[in-house]
Amino acid sequence: MARDHGFHEARILRVIDETADARTYVLDAPFAYRAGQFVTFRACGTLRSYSMSSSPDTDAELATTVKRVPGGLVSNWMIDTLVTGDVVKITPPAGVFTLRGSSGPLVAFAGGSGVTPIMSLAKSALATTTRVVKILSANRDAESVIFSAALDDLAARHPGRLEVRHHLDTVSGLVSTAEILDFAGSALAAAGDAEHPADFYLCGPEPFMDLIERVLLAQGAGQDHILTERFNPVEAVAEALCPETRPAAEKAASADAGGADLASGTITITLDGKTTTVGHVPGSTLLEHARRAGLQPPFSCEAGNCATCMGHLEAGAVKMRANNALDDDEVADGYVLTCQGVPVTPDVTVVYEY
Ligand SMILES: Cc1cc2nc3c(=O)[nH]c(=O)nc-3n(C[C@H](O)[C@H](O)[C@H](O)COP(=O)(O)OP(=O)(O)OC[C@H]3O[C@@H](n4cnc5c(N)ncnc54)[C@H](O)[C@@H]3O)c2cc1C
Repeated sequence: MARDHGFHEARILRVIDETADARTYVLDAPFAYRAGQFVTFRACGTLRSYSMSSSPDTDAELATTVKRVPGGLVSNWMIDTLVTGDVVKITPPAGVFTLRGSSGPLVAFAGGSGVTPIMSLAKSALATTTRVVKILSANRDAESVIFSAALDDLAARHPGRLEVRHHLDTVSGLVSTAEILDFAGSALAAAGDAEHPADFYLCGPEPFMDLIERVLLAQGAGQDHILTERFNPVEAVAEALCPETRPAAEKAASADAGGADLASGTITITLDGKTTTVGHVPGSTLLEHARRAGLQPPFSCEAGNCATCMGHLEAGAVKMRANNALDDDEVADGYVLTCQGVPVTPDVTVVYEY
């Protein structure tokens, strides 16, 4: 596996059709990883993260599962273009949507392609712990259910330990509060069990996750036992596309950025080969500076967990608030998560290298 500026080349060993709109890519990528993590692909001149559907505890090979997003750049390119033998560029695995050292029930809510990391987590939990696992897999219709047979097979191999419930919008409408309560049932009672508390894992469309999180919190589940993986941070996208949605204080700082703050330094950003300079606003991240400059660099989790926003530091220094995505070598080579990197020198130059 070759390495290229923080990315590694991985050959596609197999492509598996899961549904009409979803494919699994089995990769020759001998990374160590934890169930529930993801890798970030460099493709189409940008970056996108995809979770592993494989488990490091039960699968010999690393696999990601990708669902087509209507109008989406990378998911369509992958599904329409990639074949066995092709080489893709990926980061090492990252992410914190992983198993904890707990013996309480693991209750997962998966919507659509959100089943990908849930599949990985379930396989590992069943193989390496004695935990009871419950999965609510919600999909539009029967044809769009990813891993339908694999989940049933897993349940058959772990009688009494894995319960899978399929929800189809075409049959029952959208997932409701009553259904969440009914499904979580006894696990919600275990939420208050100090010794064996339940962990709730949520991955799917934003409204689906938001409803489930609200219901679980209202029923007494602790926030620290609700783990979420957000594929589409919609608020962040809206903010990036529409500067008017930014808070007034930030807009004021932004307005200042070209004036008084210039005296304290400048942040120089190269994106798509074009270089832009903006005033240094102390305490703001590189990504925030880029947005103030009117740029739209790639980003995703905005929590330091994926490498979608990665840039290369050409001058100056930054401190990352969090970094769960880049390894020590990459940081030493000058790579930085721009969503977490706060300049600590007056002048900083960063290049988005895609
Ligand atoms: C940690 C993590 C793990 C993930 N794991 C998986 C996974 O396992 N499987 C999976 O399938 N996905 C996963 N995703 C989602 C994935 O990274 C991509 O976001 C998804 O595939 C869409 O990318 P795309 O390039 O196809 O679409 P994009 O090009 O990003 O477009 C997405 C949507 O936005 C719309 N859009 C794009 N630009 C604009 C614009 N300027 N104005 C208005 N609308 C616009 C498009 O029409 C489309 O509907 C994960 C995301 C994260 C952050």
